[in-house]
Amino acid sequence: MDLRAGGSISENVRDLLEQIWHATERSGGAKGSVRLVAATKSVGVEQIREGIAAGLTILGENRLQEALPKIEALKGLPIQWHFIGHLQRRKARSVVGVFDLIHSVDSLELAEEIDKRAQDAGIRQAVLLEVNLEGEPTKSGFQPDDLERLLPQVGALSHIEVRGLMAIPPPASEPEQARPFFRRLRELAERLSRQGISRVSLKELSMGMSSDYPVAVEEGATMVRVGTAIFGARHV
Ligand SMILES: *Cc1c(COP(=O)(O)O)cnc(C)c1O
Repeated sequence: MDLRAGGSISENVRDLLEQIWHATERSGGAKGSVRLVAATKSVGVEQIREGIAAGLTILGENRLQEALPKIEALKGLPIQWHFIGHLQRRKARSVVGVFDLIHSVDSLELAEEIDKRAQDAGIRQAVLLEVNLEGEPTKSGFQPDDLERLLPQVGALSHIEVRGLMAIPPPASEPEQARPFFRRLRELAERLSRQGISRVSLKELSMGMSSDYPVAVEEGATMVRVGTAIFGARHV
């Protein structure tokens, strides 16, 4: 199966939703239990509109400056915005309250900053914690052992709501190579859940992209972040 985008945006969205549903069935999940987050970096507003018309409901952006004009342009449509890129601490203030979910909280310091800004804004910000499963030095994210140790401190932050984990597997040539990685993220979430920390839920697993989302869904992803298979290759 070629997972890259071939057709029009609407055809791609329909194919993708169908593939996600088939993979959900294989994993024994219920229809609609896996959500598609469309990664829209470098994608223009008109293309995004076409995607929404075809059924996209969640849009994931990597950079605040790029996201803000799109959010403004698409105001009023029944969509959610997720922040999926690396978030600098000094930008936390501008992101809090604007995005329904931040997938990429990669340090205790960032979690504390988001908590502070959410308190200022009088809201609770939903977040996922990004995990660096392989300990790759170039990649951001909590190391699993650190997360185990720091989770009670994250849970103590009363203006963030931890909903799950997110990870990006190391580059691979075959989707199957990512399977053990996805499985380990799910097992980590299960293990950490047993700590029973109040205010921390680890039910959501954000994992899987264009090249490997069916495998991620089979391994328990609740959200896949897909760009290329919807909008085609980025030219940036
Ligand atoms: C771009 C991006 C994706 C989507 O990647 P594709 O290979 O285009 O599907 C997913 N997650 C993050 C964090 C991204 O930056």
